[in-house]
Amino acid sequence: MYKIGTIVIRVRRICSATAIVCCVMQVLVSPTALAIEHKQVMLLHSFGRDFKPWSDYAKFIRMELDRQSPWPLDITEHSLISARSDDENPEGPFVDYLRALYAKRPVDLIVSIGAPAAAFVQRNRQHLFATTPMVFTAVDERRVQFSTLTANDAVVAVRIDYLAAVKNILQVLPDTKDVTVVVGASPIEKFWKEEIRRDLEPLADRIKISWTDHLSFEAFLKLAAALPPRSAIFWELMIVDAAGVVHEGDTPLANLHAVANAPIFSYDESFFGRDIVGGPLLLVADTSRQTAAAAVRILGGEKPGEIKIAPVQFGSPVFDWRQMQRWGISESHLPPGSRIYFRNPTAWERYRWQITLIAAVIFTQAALIFGLLYEHRRRRLAEVESLRRMSELAHLNRVATAGALSASIAHEVRQPLAAMVAQSGAAMRWLAHKTPDLPEARAALQKVADAGARASQIIENLRSMFRKEAGAPKPLNANNLLGNVLALTANEMRKHGIVLDTAFSHTPAPLVLGDAAQLEQVFLNLIVNAIEAMRSSAAGARTLDVSTTVGETGGVLITVADSGPGIDDANIDKIFDAFFTTKPDGMGMGLSICRSIVESHGGRLWVGRADRGLTFHVLLPAAGT
Ligand code: ADP
Repeated sequence: MYKIGTIVIRVRRICSATAIVCCVMQVLVSPTALAIEHKQVMLLHSFGRDFKPWSDYAKFIRMELDRQSPWPLDITEHSLISARSDDENPEGPFVDYLRALYAKRPVDLIVSIGAPAAAFVQRNRQHLFATTPMVFTAVDERRVQFSTLTANDAVVAVRIDYLAAVKNILQVLPDTKDVTVVVGASPIEKFWKEEIRRDLEPLADRIKISWTDHLSFEAFLKLAAALPPRSAIFWELMIVDAAGVVHEGDTPLANLHAVANAPIFSYDESFFGRDIVGGPLLLVADTSRQTAAAAVRILGGEKPGEIKIAPVQFGSPVFDWRQMQRWGISESHLPPGSRIYFRNPTAWERYRWQITLIAAVIFTQAALIFGLLYEHRRRRLAEVESLRRMSELAHLNRVATAGALSASIAHEVRQPLAAMVAQSGAAMRWLAHKTPDLPEARAALQKVADAGARASQIIENLRSMFRKEAGAPKPLNANNLLGNVLALTANEMRKHGIVLDTAFSHTPAPLVLGDAAQLEQVFLNLIVNAIEAMRSSAAGARTLDVSTTVGETGGVLITVADSGPGIDDANIDKIFDAFFTTKPDGMGMGLSICRSIVESHGGRLWVGRADRGLTFHVLLPAAGT
């Protein structure tokens, strides 16, 4: 039972599938289904398929028909060539040809492009498609013979306002005096020449108008290269020139543009985009759209004679930026509402992001540089300030040292004074003899004078050592500087039983460049520290070794080594720090000031350990290096 049921279902499925296939086949082969409605449209050109501006109209009308038509269209194009000459004889065979071509399947609609095509159809309406609907397009209203229009004809006319077109030239180039109108010698061109002449009569006293219909195009090109200043060219038509040469497509205008020494204007958008300046133009798209709309309405069944369309007029003015640049036309001269095309973007418009980025980078860099300069200046000011403070501190330190050494200094000064007193007493005694011993007295007085000089030298040394301001750097002998310092401290050393051992280099002399007072302060600090260290140490011989050496590389090395207790490892790295002291009444500034002074002289100050005590090394650049 189950099996039988399955078979029944399968048979039913097969039957229904067969039915669908049959239906589809029926639809495919049915003659009614094959008759998809095609509409046949014929475009009739006036001069040929490549004559501007009509070639552009044909292209746009086809596009618009494709866009607007609900039916598939079969569009054919034919060209009348009789319009190029006065001879109307070739029309007969062309009419016969078209009739033969469409005898079996008449066209649904004829679209004639341009005035000659319209006139041709109107002339031959009775012999050719008498009942076929027709749209006349791209034809100026002056060229349509409204009297012979039939109920089967619709018109999409244009209105060419030559006066407005030439006034546009005078608006954008107000100095214009000569206008050459480019127009050929074919019948329609002759017609337009007369129309233009009439239209431009109001401008007769403002501009001189020349024509090209009596010239071959070649000859005109030569003239166009040497037009007088303040000339303009108005491009009307160049289909057939005076020599009978036919000019197709873009070439004639492009050739003229290549040689012309004056700006070229036109009224038709087809010529816009390369060679002409611009102005109010007939827009191809406007006419084409209207034409296609009328065509679709007619194909849909409307009566052509009842379709009334107002003539298409100039659109709002458009200008070519490149031409404006070439002829120096200022934007301010353009009529209101003008649009400018082909404007070369400015560097700013083209590289806006890059320029912004670069500007940002430059700005940031400038800000950084400014910041760094500001910081640098602040640092320099701070350095100057710290140098000034350091120098004040150094002076204080010198004064403090002087205080500590006052006994030694007094002793130092007292020695020559005592010598002077003793020697002057001796001199007086030699003079008090019955026979004064003059040579002895003179010798004693000489010693008084020497002692006086010595005292004055000591005082001068002290004065220079403890003066406040630093002098200009000058070459100094390190031995002399040390000698001055050792003289001041000699009494102190004697008092504490310290033996001085000097090892001075004499050849070469240890010459350094610097300030005597500052360098003497360094040596004084080191020697006083050494004396204080040894004074506090209980045991062992107290020796102070002072040496100067001139290095091979020219540096002068001064060492001050004592046999004191030294300093423990934990503190040795701190002794050059400001305010580090192990002395109850110490300031802790001496070594820190010494290091600053040495470094400001371009040298180095460091400490090392000896067998006993510490050894301080001062390395200074030799004078002249
Ligand atoms: P102050 O003499 O006022 O203490 P200094 O900066 O001159 O300041 O010295 C800092 C410290 O370095 C001293 O307190 C001392 O502890 C140590 N010092 C300096 N010279 C010696 C030396 N020759 N031997 C041992 N210690 C020293």
